[in-house]
Amino acid sequence: MASIVYWGSPRQVQLDSAETLPAKLDLILDQLKLRERVRGKRVAIKMHLGGNVGYSMVHPVFVRRVVQAVLDGGGKPFVTDLPHAVADAHTRGYTAETLGCPLYPSTGLDEKWVERIPYHYRNVTEFLLGGAIKEADFLIDLAHVKGHPDAGWGAALKNLALGCFAGKTRSAMHDTCHFDQYFHKELCPDEATRLAIKESCPYGAIVDDKQDPGGLHLHYNQCNQCMRCQAVAKGAFEIKRSNFMAFMEVCVIAAKLVLDTFEPGQAVFINLATQMTPVCDCFGFTGLPILPDAGVFGSDDLVALEQATLDMLAKTPIIEENLPGMMEIVTREGHPFQHIHGPYKDVYAQVAMAEAMGLGSREYTLVDVMPVREPDFKRVTYIPAAPK
Ligand code: SF4
Repeated sequence: MASIVYWGSPRQVQLDSAETLPAKLDLILDQLKLRERVRGKRVAIKMHLGGNVGYSMVHPVFVRRVVQAVLDGGGKPFVTDLPHAVADAHTRGYTAETLGCPLYPSTGLDEKWVERIPYHYRNVTEFLLGGAIKEADFLIDLAHVKGHPDAGWGAALKNLALGCFAGKTRSAMHDTCHFDQYFHKELCPDEATRLAIKESCPYGAIVDDKQDPGGLHLHYNQCNQCMRCQAVAKGAFEIKRSNFMAFMEVCVIAAKLVLDTFEPGQAVFINLATQMTPVCDCFGFTGLPILPDAGVFGSDDLVALEQATLDMLAKTPIIEENLPGMMEIVTREGHPFQHIHGPYKDVYAQVAMAEAMGLGSREYTLVDVMPVREPDFKRVTYIPAAPK
């Protein structure tokens, strides 16, 4: 059965705050019956609070609406993210005063407030889940949508997958890309070939392997699969889809482990698709948007939410003139996020994996909480029309 995804369009007809995204978020929270579901519960509002001088994360105006809804419903809200992001969140406008609730580091002050969850996937043997998540009764996954150099994009699933776990787990998750061998020393004919492979990458993604002298290490986040290196690799260095998909898969596993700690029906998911930059909010700055604003989405179904958001974003091409000079379009196939991050950072495949792991359904019905109406020019009385 199709899941419902509520959507508030960024478009407005009247010059009226009641038609803007904060108001539409309120309508979505009503539809999700958030107030009725949180009475007496500790409610974790998981966000990405960004870093340094970034300003494109979910703005405090939106967070405050969510916090107020929880308070109205008799819940006990707190905002949570990784310790370093919480520590300087006030410099980006996130304080208890502006948000209306406390902010707690998801894994404790020194990343020791964790629960060990044994789980074997490639090099990962356990996940260290943050205590703030573990001890919550209800989860609001409040995510900002943007491109991402590891996963192609970041939204509600990614917001859970990394920011709820300790640094040791996050590092191990990133290392899943390196689990399958990609540099074959025995096939590399000579040092000149090894150096040619290294120097072929315009993004500096291929470097000497510090752990293995004479080896090569690929920074997967910097690789857009342009395949220039393959022209000189002589079979010694492979760019393989499976290495990239390993990170996608481990993110899905991590998100599932987070959701497994909540009773069924005790989580809602929100994507705010505004000011979508090419890379993650953790870069600590905000560049030009690479896609037009697409509004706010909310659902009880994480997978449906992600699919609906991706589908909406796929309707418009990348704003190429807004790309940083060192980024390029490497393909016109697949989702716009793949056009800049490469075909193997397959955002649709990640959603399919999440469905296969039982996190929700890719089938959805999109419900517009405030359909755009025909303009009523009579209401715009204070702007005189230009004389003809
Ligand atoms: S595929 Fe392109 S971006 Fe990736 S390592 Fe090779 S040259 Fe660099």
